[in-house]
Amino acid sequence: MDILNKNIFILTGAGISKESGINTFREKDGLWDNYKIEEVCTVEGFKKNPDYVNKFYNERKKILECPKIIPNHGHKSLASFENKCSGEFLLVTQNIDNLHEKAGSKKILHMHGTLDFAFCMFCKIRLKFDFNLSSKYKCPNCGNVGNVRVDVVWFGEQPKFLDKIYKYLEMTDIFISIGTSNNVYPAAGFIDFIMQTDRKVKMYEFNIEKTNKSYLFDEVFIGPASKTIPKFVESLS
Ligand code: NAD
Repeated sequence: MDILNKNIFILTGAGISKESGINTFREKDGLWDNYKIEEVCTVEGFKKNPDYVNKFYNERKKILECPKIIPNHGHKSLASFENKCSGEFLLVTQNIDNLHEKAGSKKILHMHGTLDFAFCMFCKIRLKFDFNLSSKYKCPNCGNVGNVRVDVVWFGEQPKFLDKIYKYLEMTDIFISIGTSNNVYPAAGFIDFIMQTDRKVKMYEFNIEKTNKSYLFDEVFIGPASKTIPKFVESLS
C-alpha cells in the first residue's frame, strides 16, 4: 500500500522523547518515582501547595532548555514523513515537551498542553512560559497574584482539541501510535473509536515493548522509536 498519499493520523507519547533524555512518568525510574501524580497534576494539589507544583514545572522547563535535550531520529523522521505526505496529516502528541516542533513538525496538536505556555486561572490570559512560575507571580494582564499556572492538562481537566482530533480520526486511513501505552483515556479511546468505524483503517504501533493494546494493531514494531521510526519512514519512499 502506498501510504504517502493516504490520510495519516499519528499519536505520540512520552516514549518518543525518552531517548532525548526526557523521562516517561509511569515506567520504572520514571518521574512518578520522585513525585506523586495527585500532588503535581491536579488543581487540588496546586491549591494545597502551589510552589511545590510550580517547582515541578519550572524544573521540567529547565530540562527542555538544556542544550543536550534535542530531538532524536524518531522526532526528525516524523517531520520528514509529514513533508513527504500528500494526503491529510495530523500529529497529535500527549507530550508537553517541544521536541516535535524543534524537529520541524508543523501540523501538530498538544492534547495535554505544553510547557511553552502558562495561563492565568483568574482572567484566562495565555502567557508565554518564559519566566519562573511562583505563587508571588503577578498576572501582567489582570494583576492577580498567585493564579498563573502552567498550561498543561491536569487530571480531571478536559484534554485540548478533541473535536478537531475526532474529525481527523473520522477520515484517517492510517493510525500510527508511537511510544504510548495507550492506557490513558481519552487517547486510549482513539483506538476504540477506530475499531468501531466501518472504514478500513490500517493501524501501526511502535513501542519498546508490547502493550496491552498491541493485539489490535495490524503491525507492531518493537524497539526504540529513534531506530524503528526512521526505518519505517525510509521504507515508504
Ligand atoms: P505512557 O503511558 O504513554 O508510557 C510511555 C510509553 O513509552 C510506554 O508504553 C513505554 O513502553 C514506551 N517507551 C519507552 N521508551 C520508549 C522508546 N525508547 N521507544 C518507544 N517507546 C518507548 O506515558 P507516561 O510516561 O505514563 O506519561 C503520561 C502522560 O504524562 C503523557 O501522556 C504526557 O502528558 C505526560 N508526560 C509527558 C512527557 C513529555 O512531554 N516528554 C514525559 C512524561 C510524561
